[in-house]
Amino acid sequence: MSFLELLQTFPAAFIGVCVILGLMVGSFLNVVIHRMPKMLELGWRQQCAELLSQEPVVVPTYNLVIPRSTCPHCNHIISARENIPIVSYLLLRGKCKGCGAAISLRYPIIEATSALLCGFAAWHFGFGWAAAGALLLIWALLALTAIDFDTQLLPDDITLPLLWAGLLFNLNGAFTNLYSAVLGAVFGYLALWSVYWMFKLVTGKEGMGYGDFKLLAALGAWLGWQMLPLIILLSSLVGAAIGITLIVAVKHGRNIPIPFGPYLAGGGLIALFWGQSLTQNYLRLLSAS
Ligand SMILES: [Zn+2]
Repeated sequence: MSFLELLQTFPAAFIGVCVILGLMVGSFLNVVIHRMPKMLELGWRQQCAELLSQEPVVVPTYNLVIPRSTCPHCNHIISARENIPIVSYLLLRGKCKGCGAAISLRYPIIEATSALLCGFAAWHFGFGWAAAGALLLIWALLALTAIDFDTQLLPDDITLPLLWAGLLFNLNGAFTNLYSAVLGAVFGYLALWSVYWMFKLVTGKEGMGYGDFKLLAALGAWLGWQMLPLIILLSSLVGAAIGITLIVAVKHGRNIPIPFGPYLAGGGLIALFWGQSLTQNYLRLLSAS
């Protein structure tokens, strides 16, 4: 029996493999979340210098692989043994081996969330293309959520490939047919684009960023245009609830932008797992009344 046949025959084995994969990729996502905004900023600085015909900015190589990860406090190089998802955090009791500074709780949280969601997707979809696609979508949404939360950016380097990947997975109908996927991408972009311009014309302010349009376009490409109303409704509900809480409880200034990306990502995940049954039940309710 080949490894793939084994995964196909035993759902528990498939779920286990996806959980471990989720842990490992979760660990890599931490690197992406930390480094991608800095890589973008370096790139922008270099472009600006070029445009203004200034001396090019010379900086040491900085990408997702180089340099090796170090402690931000003492520059202690993190060894492979200190880099095992969750396990290392627990063994080190959340402290750097070099200087004893606390390691952010966010690292194990991202790893655990990735593992849980991947295991759930494996159980929900079973062995096949849909599960593979769901894993990819989960990882992209996790990275986007954390980056948007930190920097209020949704990098094109993630949202655009995510859109193409959604169309590719739906070539053979992993989540919806290609027709719905293409319309989903177009209407997803246009929906938030129109909200943005209406808001800007009325208030003169920018309510959200272009990254939000691209993220909803990507979700439309993955899940089909039929899921767009549900995603917008879910993300607005969660966004409004959290936004009002922040304004009331923490006196978070009304004019400080609250990133919308994490709510879109959350709405997208709910639609990925329960979108079909939620909309079917809703339509049944409508036709019954
Ligand atoms: Zn240290």
